[in-house]
Amino acid sequence: MPDHLPVVVVGAGIAGLTLSLCLARAGVRVIVIDKAQELREVGAGLQLSPNASSILFHLGLGSALDATGIRPEAVSIRDGASGRLIVRMPLGEAMVERYGAPYIVIHRADLQGTLLAAVEQEPRVTLHLGVQISSIDVDAAGVVIEGMEADQPVRFEGSVLVGADGVRSTVRETVVGGGPARYTGRTAWRATFKAEGFFAQSFRHNETGLWLGRHAHLVHYAIDAGREINLVAAIDDAWNEDGWDVSGDPAQIQAAFEGWPEPARKLIAMPDSWRKWALCEAPRDTPWTKGRTVLIGDAVHGMPPFVAQGAAMAIEDARVLAGVLASGLGDDVEDRLGVFAEGRKARTDKVAAAARRNGVIYHLGGVPAKARNLGMRLIGAERLADNMDWIYGWRPLEG
Ligand SMILES: Cc1cc2nc3c(=O)[nH]c(=O)nc-3n(C[C@H](O)[C@H](O)[C@H](O)COP(=O)(O)OP(=O)(O)OC[C@H]3O[C@@H](n4cnc5c(N)ncnc54)[C@H](O)[C@@H]3O)c2cc1C
Repeated sequence: MPDHLPVVVVGAGIAGLTLSLCLARAGVRVIVIDKAQELREVGAGLQLSPNASSILFHLGLGSALDATGIRPEAVSIRDGASGRLIVRMPLGEAMVERYGAPYIVIHRADLQGTLLAAVEQEPRVTLHLGVQISSIDVDAAGVVIEGMEADQPVRFEGSVLVGADGVRSTVRETVVGGGPARYTGRTAWRATFKAEGFFAQSFRHNETGLWLGRHAHLVHYAIDAGREINLVAAIDDAWNEDGWDVSGDPAQIQAAFEGWPEPARKLIAMPDSWRKWALCEAPRDTPWTKGRTVLIGDAVHGMPPFVAQGAAMAIEDARVLAGVLASGLGDDVEDRLGVFAEGRKARTDKVAAAARRNGVIYHLGGVPAKARNLGMRLIGAERLADNMDWIYGWRPLEG
């Protein structure tokens, strides 16, 4: 059996880099392949809840994350119709006390850069960028990938294939037999702008804001050690175009928030440029494994970002899979991948369902929205925080 061969990971995003780092630290060799010439994570901010940050801190990345990320004091949830505060939930020290790990907001580029810098320190990891894959063969003897890298033919041999290639995964569609990504009927618009002066007037600098409105919601928080503000506006929409990095017309997003309270409109008016993309999900019946191939991250459970858990689930997947692969790649590896898949599917299905539920609740209008607001006020910050324990309190079994 090909126990002596490296694990081959397709995709050097958050899932692929975290897995590579965990495997290397456990003594396993890894080849990571990405089609991008350069790992330049576009998009904007990311919220990292304690279930994910605890894994990254355990990998020794804590000080790098704290250098560029922020630990917001609280999240304030407001009604997009009246502008009234619905509830303010403590984060900051409350998260560390409750879960032993922080809630961090960070630029995606800073997270990916931190992971990449750590991976580059690992002699067991070989990173190949700008690879166009032409064929993938997986059988009981291992995996062979062929393609082109910088106009040269390349061939990679490994023991196990990991598809960490995002929601439009090639490994899912061509090897595992899953279908194409499915549009959710929502579009996310993202932008950043310089924080200076703005938040002093309007909002607390170190607070995350969430505004809930009819057919739309808005999230804002500071990134880049507080120098920039990140905005995410999710709207019900019919636009569905492939792309992570498509520019959006500011007038269009401003029109979608017309009629919202002034502070929200002021926020939406701040950026000069926006990026937008169609929010897609991985098909819900996607098989996680096939023989020696396994999917992780968005490739298998790409979900709407309405509990801010896509990257967190990718990081959890990576950590658990590394434990499975580090205990040997021999004859029984397919069975052990099956056990991995079963456990992770149960958890990620539940998280994805929570994200879809939030998508409905967040975008209510009229009387149902008033009932939602009243319900949240009655439940109160403490019990709402308790409701997140099953997500934020998760830890890998082996510590
Ligand atoms: C608006 C928005 C807000 C979000 N906010 C949050 C949040 O606050 N918190 C959170 O946890 N999550 C959030 N997410 C989700 C998060 O961004 C994703 O879940 C996460 O990036 C998934 O990581 P991944 O590594 O699985 O996939 P990706 O980050 O998509 O990485 C896939 C990698 O595979 C490479 N690749 C693709 N195809 C190939 C191929 N054929 N060959 C080689 N390489 C290939 C790509 O170049 C890329 O580098 C948000 C998502 C959106 C859209």
